[in-house]
Amino acid sequence: MIDEKLFQKLIQQRKKTKNVLNYDVPEYSDGKTTLFMANPDICSMVQNLIDQIPEHRHLKGSNILILVKTVADQNENAAGCFARVIKAGPKDRFFACLMRDAKPESAPDFIIIFSGNALDAEGITSDGGHACPLLEVDYHKALSIIDHELLHCGAKTVADYASPSEIHDFIKDLGLRYIKTLNEFKRDSDGAVLVVYYVTDNNGYIYNIRKHDVQEFQGVIERHGESITNSHISTKIIKTKNKDLFVGK
Ligand SMILES: [Zn+2]
Repeated sequence: MIDEKLFQKLIQQRKKTKNVLNYDVPEYSDGKTTLFMANPDICSMVQNLIDQIPEHRHLKGSNILILVKTVADQNENAAGCFARVIKAGPKDRFFACLMRDAKPESAPDFIIIFSGNALDAEGITSDGGHACPLLEVDYHKALSIIDHELLHCGAKTVADYASPSEIHDFIKDLGLRYIKTLNEFKRDSDGAVLVVYYVTDNNGYIYNIRKHDVQEFQGVIERHGESITNSHISTKIIKTKNKDLFVGK
């Protein structure tokens, strides 16, 4: 579980959020659906999680767009999903470039769309997802939900065998790309074990959508205990609309 010192760092408000995009755009509403930029409290918590939690370290070079979508008809609110996490495609990045001086490096890698209805229902936000009622917010609950959704923002990993004589140097060379050693997968011939690490190309990490370890991310359970998202997931089926779009809870 996270200690009090780390907890305070995770909920502190930030003036600048390096990895969370901030577009100065008015909200959109057609009377049924309202879509707008997430408020600074949510954006700050996302940035703090990226900065403070090693499991999110691959996102330090990423751009994440965080929106809130609130629907007037509660029945349309897809079974209480907290968010959709999308790996931004060429079209998303093109439209983002239209708004941000046409710089591809500032286009989003991921888009997280929180449900204002679900956040309101949990007391994380009020007023259709607009406000974080600061003093009343259950920050532990908010953090576990945001941490969960952020963990869907993954990067490509591979596993290679490393022999006992070379594993030390191999891990040292990997640096921050090193994830873990799987000692249980030991090769009979020379005792080599599998090392899991992030692969990179010229652009850095190769982002993808990560699915839950089982029903909940292990990291969320370790950091926040039995999370609210866990209890939701255990009773609902994860929906996948297409290979780029993963509906998280
Ligand atoms: Zn999920």
